[in-house]
Amino acid sequence: MSIIKDFLFQLTLMVIPIFIYFTFLTERVKSSRNRTVLMTILWGISIIFCMSFPVNFGHNARVELRIIPLLFGSLYSGFWSGIFLSALIILYRLYFGISIGFYNTVLVLLFSLPVILFFQKSFASSKKEKRVKIAVGLSFYYCLIGLTFSGILRGFSIEYLKVQVIHLFFVAVVTWFFTTLNETIREIHQLRFEMQNSEKLRVISELTSVFAHEIRNPMQVTRGFLQLLNEPDLPNKKKEYIQMSIDELDRANEIINDFLSFGKPSINNHERIDVGYQLQRVVNIIQSYSLNHNVEIKTDFLNNCWIYANPQKLHQSLINILKNAVESMPNGGIVWFSCTSTDDGYIKITIKDQGIGMTKKQLDQLGSPFYSLKESGTGLGMMVSFQIVRSFKGKVEVNSEKDRGTEFIILLPQVV
Ligand code: ADP
Ligand code: MG
Repeated sequence: MSIIKDFLFQLTLMVIPIFIYFTFLTERVKSSRNRTVLMTILWGISIIFCMSFPVNFGHNARVELRIIPLLFGSLYSGFWSGIFLSALIILYRLYFGISIGFYNTVLVLLFSLPVILFFQKSFASSKKEKRVKIAVGLSFYYCLIGLTFSGILRGFSIEYLKVQVIHLFFVAVVTWFFTTLNETIREIHQLRFEMQNSEKLRVISELTSVFAHEIRNPMQVTRGFLQLLNEPDLPNKKKEYIQMSIDELDRANEIINDFLSFGKPSINNHERIDVGYQLQRVVNIIQSYSLNHNVEIKTDFLNNCWIYANPQKLHQSLINILKNAVESMPNGGIVWFSCTSTDDGYIKITIKDQGIGMTKKQLDQLGSPFYSLKESGTGLGMMVSFQIVRSFKGKVEVNSEKDRGTEFIILLPQVV
């Protein structure tokens, strides 16, 4: 029973760093260098625990899984991680005293680390299946080297071989399992990221179709004024016309800028942003689309409200919601777009339409991937929007009534 307990404990030591990585490090630690350092430390701790609490079979036969953190650290975090973790193993083994076991550890590392590091490059550039094969192959190789040296140093015996063979298969199976687990979670993260981007590209291509029209407007207005200025008998209104032309051109420029920043791939940078200012930029991006659908956007933004978020992602999430609001009114109408602050420290962004609305059942499905009632819809817009709001530690509330309209309320933590 105690052997099983010890094995389970060793397994837990592999699981913890993987889950810490995907739950806390991937999204929150931005620089990949810091992530590498943190992961190396975590694998280091895992190694120390593995070596401190091995599985004892009696007769000096101990088995433990230190190869797996070493392998993961070297393969996923690279050369220096591998060197550091190997040095840690040697130093910690030294702490137990210089014995045959110590020489064994050093010899095994001397023969296996160069091979692990040699395969690291091809591991980094491989796909999931090949990665699993490389990791399992390397763990097998490490155990064989361990078995050989330990046999040479201590002498072979049936009892000894039995333990080593159990160790070898156990390590290979555990390596296979954890590499597959790690790679699968990695794939899911990647997919989520790609979905956000592909949805953004689709929205951009839809908005672009009416975008040119919106840019042409100020150009035509300015052209008209320039023509008027050419008339000899209009000197007193000259200044006003010039100012109006400049304003129109500035506006066109602003729209182009906002549109371009929306298209940029977003980095995971959160910063302190002025909500009112960002919402105005969102209106600039969506305006041509809404006018094209006969929809007027009425805004009411409170000034000087700050949140901690990534502006491009905020744009993306609000544009998805506004676009749905516009599309819910095939005959045109009004969308109210406002922001206020609440007493309990939130910024409340409201988007309200007079569109077709949703039934209770439809509302429950909102935000599920690929849920769409539109002929050419993807059903990803709401999922992405909700995800983004959650990543800002915010909440979304949706109220809707069939044939009356829908109201989205987004609450984001206010910062001062
Ligand atoms: P898509 O817009 O591609 O269909 P979304 O995830 O953006 O995908 O929206 C999913 C579905 O939710 C829409 O097809 C629509 O039926 C419904 N929906 C979303 N917003 C509204 C709204 N404001 N009014 C009515 N229905 C809506
Ligand atoms: Mg949509």
